[in-house]
Formats: sequence, C-alpha cells, structure tokens
Amino acid sequence: MLKEILSGEACAQCRLCCIFDRYDVWETPVFTAELCERIREARPGTEFVTKDGGYIFRVGELRGDELFSCPALTDTGCMLGDDKPFDCRIWPYRIMEVGGRRAITLASICDELYHRPLSQLVDFLKAGLADRIFAYADLHPEIVKPYYEGYPVLLFEKKPL
Ligand code: SF4
Repeated sequence: MLKEILSGEACAQCRLCCIFDRYDVWETPVFTAELCERIREARPGTEFVTKDGGYIFRVGELRGDELFSCPALTDTGCMLGDDKPFDCRIWPYRIMEVGGRRAITLASICDELYHRPLSQLVDFLKAGLADRIFAYADLHPEIVKPYYEGYPVLLFEKKPL
C-alpha cells in the first residue's frame, strides 16, 4: 500500500515494526480470525486475545530490554505476505483518536519515512491513502488506537467521531 514511497528492500532490511519491546507492545497489529488461524497453523501454540472485535497476539511479561517478535515474522519476512494486517500495510502511518477525532499519525521508529519532508508524507495521505484508512477504520474500529504522546499528527479527519 505504501510501495510508492517505501521500498520493499528498505523494509526487508529493517523489520523493526515486527519486533516489540515492553514500551511498544500496545503497537502490536490487530488480526482477523482468518489470519489468526493461518498463524496458528504455522506456529502452533501462538495465543491471541480479543481486542474490540479483532485479535492481538498475547505477549508475556517482558523484562528490561527483552524483545518479542511477531509470530508471523520468519527469516524471510512476514509469512502473511500481501495478506498482512491492515495495520502493517499502512505502517508507519497509524490511525489514532486524538481529542475525540480520528487522525493519522506517524511512528517515529521508521527511519526510512520519518526523515522525509512532512509535505511528502501528508501529500501521499491526501492522494487517497487517508480516505482508505478512514474507510477501513469505519468497518474495523479496532485498528484505531488511543493517541500516544510523541506521535506527530499528520492529518485530522474532517468529520468528528
Ligand atoms: S503481521 Fe507480518 S508485517 Fe505485521 S508485525 Fe507481524 S510479521 Fe510484521
């Protein structure tokens, strides 16, 4: 979904968005029931918990700098390919609720996009991506996360929630 501005090669070398520490466990993607099944088939024992109609994987208690990799992550990348969760397809863009309105923010951990001109990131949203994100969130409100301090807000939805 971001192929025009984010190369597959850059993502393949990084994968930071698929690995979580105790501070960003709240950032884990929301899966559909079908995707949970696919992951469980490949990784028996993976546990999920429900989240507002979707599913997130269960992460045990992480200590210190301990890291947790998404169970869909393999040596060659995401096992779900183009079927990966919507959250992952739009990352590092995020949809959050900010003061009663939905907004699109940016995860600063993505080195590749975070250092692009703000105008380029916003223009890409205005060219259609923002509408797609808001439309998906209408059907899947579970992907909307509460605002997390430090995430730059790139664009507010015009209509209030
Ligand atoms: S589902 Fe795939 S892209 Fe998303 S966090 Fe897991 S491994 Fe990464």
